[in-house]
Amino acid sequence: MNTFVYHNPTRLVFGKGTLERLSDLVKPYGSKILVVYGGGSIKRNGIYDNVMQQLRSIGAEIHELGGVEPNPRHTTVNKGADLCKKEGIEFILAVGGGSVIDCVKAISVGAKYDGDAWDIVTRKAEPKAAVPFGTVLTLAATGSEMNSGSVITNWDTQEKYGWGSNLTYPQFSILDPESTSSVPKDHTIYGIADIMSHLFEHYFNHTANAPIQSAFVESLLRIVIDAAPKLIADLHSYQQRETILYSGTMALNGMLSMGTVGDWASHNIEHAVSAVYDIPHGGGLAILFPNWMGHVLDAGVPRFKQFAVNVFGVDPAGKSDRETALEGIQALRAFWNSIGAPSRLADYGIGDDKLDIMVDKAMINGPFGNFMKLDREDVRAIYVSSL
Ligand code: NAP
Ligand code: FE
Repeated sequence: MNTFVYHNPTRLVFGKGTLERLSDLVKPYGSKILVVYGGGSIKRNGIYDNVMQQLRSIGAEIHELGGVEPNPRHTTVNKGADLCKKEGIEFILAVGGGSVIDCVKAISVGAKYDGDAWDIVTRKAEPKAAVPFGTVLTLAATGSEMNSGSVITNWDTQEKYGWGSNLTYPQFSILDPESTSSVPKDHTIYGIADIMSHLFEHYFNHTANAPIQSAFVESLLRIVIDAAPKLIADLHSYQQRETILYSGTMALNGMLSMGTVGDWASHNIEHAVSAVYDIPHGGGLAILFPNWMGHVLDAGVPRFKQFAVNVFGVDPAGKSDRETALEGIQALRAFWNSIGAPSRLADYGIGDDKLDIMVDKAMINGPFGNFMKLDREDVRAIYVSSL
């Protein structure tokens, strides 16, 4: 294992009925509150009314920023940061999925920065202070509710980057599985693909002696693989929503990566696709990840064999390690097909016309990935195999 320090300051408030604790959780942070949300799902499922009623009950001065885009834009971040400055906002409440939470993270530091928040996303400026924020999560996917990461898109330049700071952990996150029951089938599938992808990013590493981390990831993957089809068959199943919601948080709150260094190449490759084509992150990952696996297999056949056997129950008897490993990758593709995830870029109408642009974007900081370093030709090959 590598040496590590683990510190996660986010207060996680999880379970049925926990949305009702919002007013108590917000109260200590002051009365000028900016509520940030997306395109309107919270108005249709009643969460908006509940949140507003609770904030009014504590006498909050409420400001609103709706319309945060899936793949949130830096322009919306700047709008929120300006609002915070103008109104003297003391606390920001993100109500939505990862896009709303990521946007709020950038607003929180943008509000204390004199300039374009894109400077912070591109690491030209270091955040020095932040307006505190909390979240009401409505979609299981990113883990953003309990990590410091944020992914922001600049649609003018078609760039999408992840960034983060110790200042951008939520103060609290309320995870009431009932708040996720209205997520439609497609976004439920994308969320599941994103959760599994975070688990893969952790799992495919070369760290010696990390059996606990491996076993944690394998067990989470088995649980998601069991729960996902049940949830897709019954989108209102409280039990399956609860399992997937908790899985999503555990998959990217730092608990599984203690002492190991994950790969993260597939996320980088996906961000370059959604920066150009604005596709859902989880959909892109479902297309790309098995092709990344096929491409890097020979950089660690034993690890892929372990994955095949321990996660998908592939029987290794009478097979070479490589054959077993390949069966694991095929089993993943078959599983994602079975729940209705996309499998080709063509599913989003994406052809090879902007392939070089995507390669350029993915390569902007040079070769990347830790399980196997990918250069231009590797990235290109993964895109080509994904067409
Ligand atoms: P999202 O973009 O936040 O939401 C996707 C869609 O689901 C939106 O149209 C949203 O509608 C809808 N939705 C959300 N909750 C709903 C509910 N309860 N009922 C009905 N519809 C609902 O999806 P996401 O996957 O959570 O976030 C994706 C973003 O996070 C991407 O930009 C990705 O790159 C990033 N990401 C971040 C991290 C991280 O650690 N920070 C990790 C991975 C990915 P409304 O807009 O109308 O609410
Ligand atoms: Fe992700």
